Formats: sequence, C-alpha cells, structure tokens
Amino acid sequence: MIKRNPLVMVPGPTPVARSIQDAMGRETISYNDPRMAADFKSLIEDLTSLWRCDGIAFVVAGSGTMAMEMGIVNVADEGERVLVCSNGFFGDRYADICARKHFETENLKSAKWGKSVTVDEVDAKLSEKKFDVLVVTHVETSTGVEFPLRELMSMMRSEHPDVLVVVDGVASMGGVEFYMDWGVDVMLTCSQKCFGAAPGLGVLWASRRALEKRESMPLLTEAYIDFERWAPVMRDTNRYWGTPAVNMIWAFCEAVRIIKEEGLENRFKRHRAYADAIRESLRAIGFVMGADEDIAAPTVTVALYPENSGFDDVSFRGAVYDEGAHIAACPGNLSGAGFRIGHMGNIDAHILISLVASIERACLKSGYKIEPGAGLSVMQRKLMDM
Ligand SMILES: *Cc1c(COP(=O)(O)O)cnc(C)c1O
Repeated sequence: MIKRNPLVMVPGPTPVARSIQDAMGRETISYNDPRMAADFKSLIEDLTSLWRCDGIAFVVAGSGTMAMEMGIVNVADEGERVLVCSNGFFGDRYADICARKHFETENLKSAKWGKSVTVDEVDAKLSEKKFDVLVVTHVETSTGVEFPLRELMSMMRSEHPDVLVVVDGVASMGGVEFYMDWGVDVMLTCSQKCFGAAPGLGVLWASRRALEKRESMPLLTEAYIDFERWAPVMRDTNRYWGTPAVNMIWAFCEAVRIIKEEGLENRFKRHRAYADAIRESLRAIGFVMGADEDIAAPTVTVALYPENSGFDDVSFRGAVYDEGAHIAACPGNLSGAGFRIGHMGNIDAHILISLVASIERACLKSGYKIEPGAGLSVMQRKLMDM
C-alpha cells in the first residue's frame, strides 16, 4: 500500500499546494533576468497594495525570525525604549532579540500562557513612561492566542500616536484580518505559514513613517537586513543587494495569486470558520481548549488533554502521526499538557475531516475512551453550515 506523507498540521510549515511546489521546481534563471525582475516587481506591488501599505513591502531570504530582527533594528535606534508585549514563546523571543540590541527593552507579559496582554495594560504602560517603539505578536503560536490588534491600533492612534508599532504577524498574515492602514509601522511574516509556501522567505511591510524613521538613523551594524540596502531593490527589482531567492519568489508569487483568487476577506472568514469547526470537533472528542474562546486564534489551536485522562503526550502525537496527521507539541509552560494544530493557508474540507479522523483513530488505538465519530460528526455539520 502506498504510504502517504502525513498532513502537515503543525503551525508552519503548512500544506503546500501543487502549483506552489511546481513554481519552486521551475528552471532557475538569474535574479536580473528581465522576466525574474518583472515577476519580483509584480509580487512587491501586490503585497504593497493588497495590504494597503503606504510604504513598501520587502521580500528577503530568511525565516520569520530574521524578519523579526529586520523589523525592529530598522525602526529602533540606539538607546531608544522598546516595549514588547509577550503572550508566550514568540513574544519572549522578540523580547530577547530586542534585549541583545542597544535599546532599552521591557517585556510586558500576559497574566499567564493562554491569556493576552490587554489593550488597557498597554495604554497604562505607555502612559507611565515614554517608549519609542511598541512590539506585539498578532497570533502567539505557542498558546493559540490572538492579540486584539484592531482595538490596540485604534487606542494607539488616539492615545499614543508617536509610538511606532511593530507587529509579529508570522502566524496571522494572509489568514487573519489586517491592513497596514490600521496604523502599524512594520508588519512581518514568512513564507511557510498562512501563505502556504515552503519555508525560506521573510516578508515585511514598512509604513512610510517606518521608512522615514530608518532614514533618520545612522548606519546599522546589521548589513544584510538593512531597509536602506533593500529598499532600492524593492523599488527597482533590477537592482542588487543580496541575491534574491529566485525559485522561492516564484513560489511566493503563486501563493499570492492563490490568495487573490480566493479574495482576502473570504480567506479571513474561512480561517475563522475552520478554527471554530476544529475547536468544536476537538471539544466533542473531549479535549480542553488552551485559549479562551474570545481570544482563540483563527490560525492555530492549543488543545489540552483532559485532567487525569492519562494521555501520554509523546506517544499520542506519535499515534496521530501514524494515523496521517502531523501535529505539534506545546512548547515551554505547556509542554506535555496538550498539542497544537496549525490550521493556516491552503487547507480545505478534505484536510479537516482527515485531521479529525486521524485524531479520533489515535485516541481509540491508544485505548482512550472516546466515542468514534464524535468529532467527525461535529466537523461535518460545521462544514455543511459554511
Ligand atoms: C513561526 C513563528 C516565528 C518564527 O518563524 P521562523 O520561520 O521559525 O523563524 C515567529 N513568530 C511567530 C508568531 C511564529 O508563529
């Protein structure tokens, strides 16, 4: 019997559509071949206009973590004060990146993992003393929590308009409502999450204000990730700084084409509907959701094992893998207490049904008493309601 690869249901990478794989497999040409320069140019234009950016979009080879570093060093100058809001592992990673630089960093943490720092807490902190830059994680992938970004930005515009805002949108961009005209200065993501391409590209949107801030700053100690070096390339894709990842750029062009075909607003709605269906199905099986419903992310879910249920985390996830779905461990504080599912990008009803079915079979094969089909029947009904 053919052994299929398991479904990639971790929070990145996500399932890569055949047409995106094909784009990566094309014969490589030079980055300055006019055909490549034209494709790259239209990609940058699409990213800039789709997300209503008054500055420019950057596409640079590297992972999301590179995009995080690039996002902050270009808008925070030496000695400036940076407030990081952390809802978990990736928020703490951003605080760590900032702490290594020559800025003064404070890490405002959520009350506990599974909760979010509130807009009021941010307002209070920024009113207490002057900060130059605020950093938040839109969807915290370690806890499945969505930061109330729209509400935050409306507060920021009225109460703290001079503070620049940098957002880690790695697990949200392309799946969760957001436009640059909410007032964010730097938004960032990478290729392997909601865009559904393979890992390899960092993507950033910088507002005009962010670009002006960079222009006002001296030479950065970081060379590769300097906006001043990449901006001329993004404005004229015939220019050179570091060799663009030709085949990954084609893959990303195809990922964006798919997004345009679906429509951003439809895609945002679909992610919310799928997330709701997954969580309801998991609850029906007996799992407990790690994040409160009002802040549960549209793109990633943390499901906890019920108390005293005896679930062995490593062997259970191994059983789910054997049944056909690769799900992720919980990091940090939640390690061993449950699992994470990435439900981002180019997924569909087939994938959702197979995911829930794999989890049910893994429960049954591992000897946990669940009702076969309990989650599946919920998923079927939810899919019919969409
Ligand atoms: C995945 C992720 C990152 C890190 O991205 P890499 O590509 O692994 O470097 C950062 N922030 C969030 C919110 C993520 O989900």
